[in-house]
Amino acid sequence: MFSLSRSLCRRNIPQSANHFVVRFTGNYYRCVWPRKKLVASSTIDCRKLQYIKVQKCDFRTTPSLHVPPYVAMLLRPLLRISAVLVGRTMKRWWTRKSEKEKQEYKRWFRERSNVFLGCFGLYGLMLLIYYVTHLETDPLTQRSRFIIFNKEQEKQLGKMLLESHLEAHKEDVVPTTHAAYRRLLRVIEKILAANKDLKSIREVQWSLTVISTPLVNSYILPGGNIFVSLDILNFVENDDQLGIVLTHEMAHSLLLHTLEMLSNQLLWDFLMVIPMLLVWALLPYIAAPVVQFTGEQIVNIMYKLPYNRVLESEADQVGIKLAAKACFDIREAVVFWATMRTLTEIHSLPAELPWISTHPAHGDREKNMNQAMPAALELRRDSGCSRLPATDPRDEFYKRSTREQETFFRQRGIIP
Ligand SMILES: [Zn+2]
Repeated sequence: MFSLSRSLCRRNIPQSANHFVVRFTGNYYRCVWPRKKLVASSTIDCRKLQYIKVQKCDFRTTPSLHVPPYVAMLLRPLLRISAVLVGRTMKRWWTRKSEKEKQEYKRWFRERSNVFLGCFGLYGLMLLIYYVTHLETDPLTQRSRFIIFNKEQEKQLGKMLLESHLEAHKEDVVPTTHAAYRRLLRVIEKILAANKDLKSIREVQWSLTVISTPLVNSYILPGGNIFVSLDILNFVENDDQLGIVLTHEMAHSLLLHTLEMLSNQLLWDFLMVIPMLLVWALLPYIAAPVVQFTGEQIVNIMYKLPYNRVLESEADQVGIKLAAKACFDIREAVVFWATMRTLTEIHSLPAELPWISTHPAHGDREKNMNQAMPAALELRRDSGCSRLPATDPRDEFYKRSTREQETFFRQRGIIP
């Protein structure tokens, strides 16, 4: 049984400015991985939070090989800066040597090349062992993943990020008495109640923060802290679509996607530190940053962005199951992504460049949701939900022509 701990927060909440205009100048719907720079903040303003408790958490103890979150956050920039500084220092040291000394050092290095190769090999082996011993299987997807944080550290990381995000949005937070907040809370409560059989749902202390920003946006921080921009409510057609948006975000939390991304980024930084050092040590000063930037972009396009898109698709797949159990009309998931695709096609949304995007193309998400629908509808039936309306919202959407869609979007206020 879950309950709201309303006593956590004072009720005399100042009214913040609200924006109910959907703007089409930037990203419209996007999930944001927390990459903001941390802002020092000693307290969390309790007025901005409303926790949704399902069950008291029971965290395991911290194994010694897990990395504390603040160490991980510091290590990333530290590794990069160290690689550049050491590389440049080595280059300066080398340029000061005479030709004779250089020849002697080269001979000395050649004689010990096996030792250096052995050191690099040992370093790689240690990373490999660390990687293999920190693989775990996700109970929801059965997918193997690399995570260097445990539950307690996830909680610490979530607290750190929550403080920084509340600080960043301190002028934008919508009071908990706002109708939009109550609507969002009602939908989240419905999702939590229907999915409380999941241990991962019960273990999280969920919180909701509604912010009034010009960007249509939603994201979730580690530890279940959901942030939703007010404008999303204008963008979704009904509570079923809102349920789809929220279950997608909650799925990110249940699947520990932020922790997985951060773990992988840290591993990449450890892998890249030696190549980076060599780039700065061996190449001319002008060429080194160009090569580093190019290398990073290649890694982004070839590995990081596709990986991010896989996680987004995974959150879609798990999210629709959570929504099905909560008895939403999950066919609206297809309508939501079809709407996004259509808005892109009529140039009300920026053109998509899937290969450099953090998210799958809207059309792909629509297709994936359509493919997942038979199994999700069966899950919904098995969850004891009432029958869905006979009229399929997908049919209603698809039978409209592009011109009719534009008129419909205009009537809804999505486009001017
Ligand atoms: Zn997402």
